[in-house]
Amino acid sequence: MIDAGKCLPLYNEIEGRFPEWIGADAHNALMGCMKCQLNCPANQEAVRLTGKLEDVTEEETEKILKGAPNKKLLDSLSRKLREFYPTQSKDAFPILTRNLRALLKPKTDLP
Ligand code: SF4
Repeated sequence: MIDAGKCLPLYNEIEGRFPEWIGADAHNALMGCMKCQLNCPANQEAVRLTGKLEDVTEEETEKILKGAPNKKLLDSLSRKLREFYPTQSKDAFPILTRNLRALLKPKTDLP
């Protein structure tokens, strides 16, 4: 039984600070989490239908980390990430920045 209150997407798809109990190594996606769903036998057909999105460049990655998007970056990310809502909204962009920093933090010297 999954405790939905402990499910990562409940926290990484909205603004705010992550609860203390979410470990630094728990973050595994820019948005959401598919770890249990990817391993579920009932989802194997859906897993085969997934594809690779266009790469986000190193320059764009640095701009996301800085948290200061411009129209060009928002347009590019909206296309590359299939118009996922944070990239469409400058106001929601901090979610993307927070999540990327959380993803990279264990592997880098980000503060
Ligand atoms: S693996 Fe990810 S999606 Fe599945 S229950 Fe855990 S946090 Fe939620």
